Amino acid sequence: MSDIINLLPDAVANQIAAGEVVQRPASALKEMVENAIDAGADEIQIILKDAGKALIRVVDNGAGMSEADARMCFERHATSKISEAKDLFALRSFGFRGEALASIAAVSQVEMKTRQKSRELGTGVIIEGSKVISHEPVSCPEGTSIAVKNLFFNVPARRNFLKSNNVELRHCIDEFQRIAIANPGIVLELFHNDRPVFQLKKGNLKQRIVAIFGGNFDEKIVPVEAETSRIKISGFIGKPQYAKKTKGEQYFFVNGRFIRHPYLNHAVQTAFEDLIPDGAFPTYFIFFEVDPADIDVNIHPTKTEINFLDAKLIYSFLRSAVKQAFGKFSIAPTIDFNTEQTINIPPPPRSANIPAPSVNIDPSYSPFSNNRDEEAPSQANWEKMFSPDSFPGVQQQIDISVPGLDATSQEDTGESHPKTSEQLFLQVQNRFILTGIKSGLMLIDQRKAHQRVLYENFMENLENATPGSQKTLFPETWHLNASDASLVNELNEQFLRLGFEISSAGANSFIVNGVPADLPQELILQTLENTLEQYKNQSSGSSSRHKRLAKAMAKSMSISNNKTLSQEEMQTLANSLFACAAPESDLDGGKTLIIWPFDKLAEMF
Ligand code: ADP
Ligand code: MG
Repeated sequence: MSDIINLLPDAVANQIAAGEVVQRPASALKEMVENAIDAGADEIQIILKDAGKALIRVVDNGAGMSEADARMCFERHATSKISEAKDLFALRSFGFRGEALASIAAVSQVEMKTRQKSRELGTGVIIEGSKVISHEPVSCPEGTSIAVKNLFFNVPARRNFLKSNNVELRHCIDEFQRIAIANPGIVLELFHNDRPVFQLKKGNLKQRIVAIFGGNFDEKIVPVEAETSRIKISGFIGKPQYAKKTKGEQYFFVNGRFIRHPYLNHAVQTAFEDLIPDGAFPTYFIFFEVDPADIDVNIHPTKTEINFLDAKLIYSFLRSAVKQAFGKFSIAPTIDFNTEQTINIPPPPRSANIPAPSVNIDPSYSPFSNNRDEEAPSQANWEKMFSPDSFPGVQQQIDISVPGLDATSQEDTGESHPKTSEQLFLQVQNRFILTGIKSGLMLIDQRKAHQRVLYENFMENLENATPGSQKTLFPETWHLNASDASLVNELNEQFLRLGFEISSAGANSFIVNGVPADLPQELILQTLENTLEQYKNQSSGSSSRHKRLAKAMAKSMSISNNKTLSQEEMQTLANSLFACAAPESDLDGGKTLIIWPFDKLAEMF
C-alpha cells in the first residue's frame, strides 16, 4: 500500500488559511491598516476601487521594511511581533499571528513598495496567488504602500460570495471607523472610486468622533472615566435622549483594539435602563486599558472577540462607571423622552380640499351624556363614567382639564348644557382622544392618527403633487457619516418632493436650504436625522422606497404621546384622519382608533 498522506503545497495551505483571515475586502483592509499602525505610521491613506473588490491600497509613513523582510512578510507565520510563545501573553500590537499578508497574497495580486528611513532605495515586490513575480530595488517614498488587487481572483467561489458594492463598502467603512476611533492621533483618509469618504485630521477622541459622526455629536456625548489598579475605563457615552432605534454607534475597545462583547454591552444597556425607551440602543465609545496578561485575545481569528479573565468584576465596574457619568453630568433626572420629538402644530393635510369624513360624526352628539337633555354629570360622575374598569383601553388618570368641561359643569348646569354645535373631544393622558360618534364612543391614539395623516400626505407629495418648500431662515448644515451621506444622496429627489431642499456641501455634509412649510427651524436637523434612522430601520423588503420614506418621515414628524392638544387641534386631527384613505390603520399593521358601540357599552352596566 502506498502512503496517502501528503503535505499540502504552501500555496494551497495559504489559500485555506486565507479563508479564516480574509473573508471580504474589509478584512484585508483591517489587517493592512493595523500593520501600518504597528509600523508606527501617523498618516495612513486607504484607496478603494469597487468597494475594495478591484483594489485596496494602503499607504503609510511608517518604518518600512528591509529588502529581506519585504519578501519574508508574505510567508506564513512570518511576524516581527512575537518570537516566543510567552510573548503571546504580553501582546500590545495588533497582528501577531503572522498570517495576514500571507493569506492576502494567496488570494489576490499584491504590489508592495516599501522603504526604511535610513535607506536610499526601497524594495518592490509583486506576488500573485502566493507566487513571487518580482522582488527588486525600487525608488519609493519612506514607509510602505501595499496594493491588493482583484481579491479572490483565483477563488471564484469566494469572489461570487461577495456582496454588492454597497454592502462591501459598508463593511470597509465599519472597519475604517473602528480603527479611526481607536487612533485619533493618526491622520486617516479613505477614498472610494476617487472620491473622499473620510479625511480625518489628528485630534483628540472627541474631535475624532465628531469628525466621523457629524457636527452635532458634540452635544450628544459625555465623558466616562473610571480606574482601578487593574483596569482603566475611558471614553464617551451618548446622552440617553439620543439613544437610537437602530443599533448604531456602539464601540468597545480593549487596549486600542475594537471588540464585541455582548456581556459587557449588557452592562451598559442596564446602566441606561429606565433612561431610554424600550427598544432603543445607547451610544457608546468605551475604552478599556488592561494588562494584556488579564485577557485572552486569541480566541477568535479575526480578533473581535476577547475574554477577560475577570469579566464579572468588569461588568459591575463598567456599569457603575456609566451611571456615574450620568450623575456627573446630571443627565438622568431631567430627561423627558416624550417631548423629544414633539412638533407643536399637527399640520393639517396640505391638499386643499379635505374630503368628507367617511365615518359619520354626529356633531350635536356629546359623549358626556347618554341623553342630551340630561344634566351634565358631576365631576364625580365623570370619573365614574370613565373609570378604567369600564374601558379597558382607558387607563388610570383622566385629564379633566378639557376646555369647555369646567364651564359646563359649573355654570351651564341644567338644560343649557351642552348645546354647543361643536363636537367635543376629551384628551386622556395626553395620548388618547375620546369623542362620541353616532354609533358609539371612539378613542383615537393621537400619535398613530397623526402618523397616518402625515403618511398619506407625504405619499401624495411623493407620487403626485410636489408641495412648496419654504426657505430656511438660516440654512442648516447637516454632517453625516459616510454611509448615511450616500443614503441622503440616493434619496435627494424624494426629499425634495417632501419639501426639503438639500444640497451637497463637500464630503458627507449637506446644506438644508428649504423645508416643508410648518417645520420649525430648531427641529430641522432632528427631523431629518430621525427620518433617516427610521428609514434605515425598515426592512427594504416589499415596501417601495416612497412608502418607506413617507413612513419614516411620518414617524419622525408626528406629535408625541405626551402632547396636550386643544379642542381645535383635536378637531383638526380627527377631520384629517377621516379624510385619509385608510383612517383606521396605523402604519405598522395596527389600529389608529377603537370604536365601542353603544349597545356593547350598555351591556356593560
Ligand atoms: P503580523 O502583523 O501578524 O505580524 P502580517 O502578515 O500582518 O503578520 O505581517 C507580517 C510582518 O510584515 C509584520 O510582522 C511586519 O513585520 C511586516 N509588515 C507588514 N505590514 C507592514 C507595514 N505596513 N510596514 C512595516 N512592516 C510591515
Ligand atoms: Mg498584521
